[in-house]
Amino acid sequence: MRILILEDNVSLSEWLAKLLRGENYVVDCVPDGETLLNGVDLAPYDLAIVDLGLPGVGGIEVVRCLRRAGETLPILILTAQDALDSRVAGLNAGADDYVTKPFEVPELEARIRALLRRPRTQAERALSFGPLAFDQTARSFSLADAPLALTPREHAILEALLRRAGNTVSKETLLEAGYSFEDEVGPGAVEVVVHRLRRKLEGSAVSIATVRGFGYVLRQASA
Ligand code: CA
Repeated sequence: MRILILEDNVSLSEWLAKLLRGENYVVDCVPDGETLLNGVDLAPYDLAIVDLGLPGVGGIEVVRCLRRAGETLPILILTAQDALDSRVAGLNAGADDYVTKPFEVPELEARIRALLRRPRTQAERALSFGPLAFDQTARSFSLADAPLALTPREHAILEALLRRAGNTVSKETLLEAGYSFEDEVGPGAVEVVVHRLRRKLEGSAVSIATVRGFGYVLRQASA
């Protein structure tokens, strides 16, 4: 994982870089916004830490420019304590999270890890199995690129099957996925939903097979 630090206080950025290198990140430092916007290829980076208090082009402007240019890299901003307005402005400009100075190192590291866990690209956000795809951000299904209209229960059960595609999922697991504790239903309810889902998947290369006495498995017809 490679991190870019934009911070004009060189002793702070060097200290931070050393600390992150100790956590096995590859780190580069840039001292001002102009350098970053005009001369740094962000493609190799997994995350940018941007200080908002910069001479010249400010951190908020840097964040805004990057987002306007379509840059999806996670951005963590560093703000002065009590600077609520700039925190809000930074987040509105497109930053993903913030840490206030002076920060506690474990908190900064935890926020970095949390941002790095987030899916960034359309491909990472999508979960797919043959022609069936699920966009985890929009939380919508599509079948052969056409939107698949599902009821909330159908959605919950198909999502549970898709997340374990190719493996058998028990009726109990599907029941837990689709129904709350208040719903007084038995495994028969799952059968009804699976029946409806099968009809919606009919004609495609994906189907729900019954594993007798246990549950269901999402299968793909071999080409
Ligand atoms: Ca600064």
